[in-house]
Amino acid sequence: MDRVDAVVIGGGMAGLVAAWQFSRAGLRPVLLESRGYTGGLVAGSRIAGVSYDIGAEGWAVRLPDTETLAAELGLEVEYPRSAPSWVWFDDGPFAMPVRAILGIPADLGAPDVVAGLGAEAARAAAELDRAPIPEELPRDLGSLVELRMGSEVLRRLVAPIAGGIHAADPHLLATEVVSPGLTAAVRRAGSLAGAVAAIKGNGPVKPAVASVSGGMFRMPQTLHAQIEAAGGRILTRTGAKALSRGGEGWIVSAAATHRASNPSLPPVPDGQTVEFTAPRVVVACSASTARPLLGQVIDTAGPQLVPGAPIAHVNLAVQAPELDLCPRGNGMLVAIGSQKVQAKALTHLSVKWPSLTASCPTGLHLLRVSYGRTGQAAQDLSVGQALADASTLTGVELTADQVMESQIIHWTGALAPTTPQTRAWVQGLHAQTSDQEGLGLTGAWASGSGIAALVPHARRTAERLS
Ligand SMILES: Cc1cc2nc3c(=O)[nH]c(=O)nc-3n(C[C@H](O)[C@H](O)[C@H](O)COP(=O)(O)OP(=O)(O)OC[C@H]3O[C@@H](n4cnc5c(N)ncnc54)[C@H](O)[C@@H]3O)c2cc1C
Repeated sequence: MDRVDAVVIGGGMAGLVAAWQFSRAGLRPVLLESRGYTGGLVAGSRIAGVSYDIGAEGWAVRLPDTETLAAELGLEVEYPRSAPSWVWFDDGPFAMPVRAILGIPADLGAPDVVAGLGAEAARAAAELDRAPIPEELPRDLGSLVELRMGSEVLRRLVAPIAGGIHAADPHLLATEVVSPGLTAAVRRAGSLAGAVAAIKGNGPVKPAVASVSGGMFRMPQTLHAQIEAAGGRILTRTGAKALSRGGEGWIVSAAATHRASNPSLPPVPDGQTVEFTAPRVVVACSASTARPLLGQVIDTAGPQLVPGAPIAHVNLAVQAPELDLCPRGNGMLVAIGSQKVQAKALTHLSVKWPSLTASCPTGLHLLRVSYGRTGQAAQDLSVGQALADASTLTGVELTADQVMESQIIHWTGALAPTTPQTRAWVQGLHAQTSDQEGLGLTGAWASGSGIAALVPHARRTAERLS
């Protein structure tokens, strides 16, 4: 039995941040990661000689904590180039309204809203949003938008954005997870548009996201290096398989891992077992593995988790000077039901991020063509299909001989939506873990949506236990 200061289970962003926070408090944590690398859904690769993100590209700037962390780590922050995203409908693409949250417009009379929605639908939405606010507001984003602005705003503006960012139908998303504070703002403002306007403010529209210059993947790499430099230990290919309370604190039993039958799932800890005992344990692994571990010490009964979409990306490095004109700004979201395009989104990576633009030689462009919606079966992907979709979406004919390199990346199930039911269940788990001395629970699924929410949550969790 190895006695240590703290054990952190899971080496994604949440686990790394928690372990790094322990190191800052002078503790020497052991971090267990069942995969062969740390960073989890934040990962980098190289294509045509250029380093780039294959997982999460950045964070939402609505909370300041990730930017603060970047500064503490010595990393430079960058913002996407200011260009609207586009939405593809087969009857004509349009630029997404700029003053909006998740596609919900702040002003239903703004020219970019009318252009996307049509004058009549914009007028009807404004009329609906003038109705008095009912006592009970729906808890999911889709129903809230339908109630206040109608189905056209949901279909044309919100569903493409929610599908692009959260890979889920808006009816599956708890509003307070994807846009904290929006429901209270609706009550204060007396309308949904007024709530969005109040949150966005009157000044120039600021970028909603930020990243690390040179790639988001540099953040987990730096956390990893600094944890080890401070005396912490990081054990990859080592998965936790049991958690219990012993006389001297928590006991974590872990084992060497082997690939799961589905490579998108965390590997299985079925090799040689090692045991750790520690006064502090932070569970920061994926929900599917955290639930059985926590179930050994608290009651984890609750709703069945909604499976995440079969997300997959075809990343293309193309020699195409015609794309220098950035025909679709930073990228495009495809509305459900397109007969012309199979992809659900296209991101013009080398236009969006200034440091990537600088890394690409003249005429080289990086495109990410995304597939896989909630409830869909995984698609067979090919570079040919991605080229056809990218050509339709950008309006620039791209051919196989322009492809310098391509990579197909699967993230099946990685972004499970937080429904109102899941949110209530997670709140119950937090209440139970806080009653257990030395036990912490964090991770994107347990702390809110994405990196912006998990960074402060993981830090607070480790601070509380230090
Ligand atoms: C394609 C894609 C794009 C995204 N884009 C964005 C974005 O732009 N902005 C944003 O904010 N978010 C984005 N996200 C979401 C974001 O990446 C995640 O919310 C975040 O990285 C999750 O971090 P985590 O540490 O909670 O979980 P994970 O990254 O899932 O890490 C959990 C880790 O636990 C390990 N593990 C599991 N079981 C065990 C075990 N038994 N023992 C030890 N280790 C275990 C896993 O191997 C994994 O490494 C994106 C996600 C994807 C897939």
